[in-house]
Amino acid sequence: MNPAPYVGRFAPSPTGPLHAGSLVAAVASFLDARAAGGRWLVRMEDLDRPRCEPGAADAILRQLEAYGLVWDGAVLYQSQRDDAYAAALDTLRGEGAAFACTCSRSQLAQAPRNAEGEIVYPGTCRLHPPPRTAAHAWRVRVEAASTHFTDRIHGALQQNMAHDVGDFIVKRADGLFAYQLAVVVDDAFQGVTHVVRGADLLWNTPRQIYLQTLLGLQTPVYAHVPLITNAAGQKLSKQTRASALPETGRGTVMAHALAVLGHAPPAELAGTEPAEQLAWAAVHWQIENVPTRPAVAKPAP
Ligand code: GLU
Ligand code: ZN
Repeated sequence: MNPAPYVGRFAPSPTGPLHAGSLVAAVASFLDARAAGGRWLVRMEDLDRPRCEPGAADAILRQLEAYGLVWDGAVLYQSQRDDAYAAALDTLRGEGAAFACTCSRSQLAQAPRNAEGEIVYPGTCRLHPPPRTAAHAWRVRVEAASTHFTDRIHGALQQNMAHDVGDFIVKRADGLFAYQLAVVVDDAFQGVTHVVRGADLLWNTPRQIYLQTLLGLQTPVYAHVPLITNAAGQKLSKQTRASALPETGRGTVMAHALAVLGHAPPAELAGTEPAEQLAWAAVHWQIENVPTRPAVAKPAP
């Protein structure tokens, strides 16, 4: 049997324009797809409507074009996909895998936290089902066993979800579906075979593999590429006020993104158009050469 043809994707959240860190994830997923002769899709994760910034989705698409990152097919918008997420939640409920949760933030304030400082759900509403009258979220119950998975960059890993995550939210009390559910439904819907994304999502992978199993979906292959941090060691993000990708000097910015990925272009290419550097990098791409550790942002010139 032939393996499924490669389908990769870049899935930005349009909460603001792309910055140097999101460019690294876009470039890595693009190169991995192009090096494999595969398709590269773009999906707008505009699920959390209140956090999305008007105009950001279009701004991101224009930035991708300006940086030579040409995608295949139509862009999928998660804001249009509620029916698919609702159907998946119905499946989970039908299997008895999901339960209603009425815990408020303040009720969970005393719950244990994992190494990342996130609340580990203590199982309150799983153990004592609340009356269904109040607004409620939906959580998926996790099992006590460890989930094993292999990342193409980080190697063999395992996580005990019961210990490190707890029963997790798939639909919020305000009616919005959660990232974990949407990402799994859409990766399957789009036929994604290879996920290449930022290392901040590494420890979300077991939740996603678990949902794929419950929903009878294929598990893609995963690779998590280095984040860029500021001098204080914080991930570049809107919260840490990372600046948008510049509109001039794109060649230098692309050369830096490639260097972060362990694929610094030769000196004579470093200042050229991003598309030219990408063409070189697609030929030389070896995912084993991508470092596991985060990189520190280059100070602004
Ligand atoms: N939308 C997520 C983000 O921008 C990425 C989701 C993914 O690649 O799985 O952080
Ligand atoms: Zn609860």
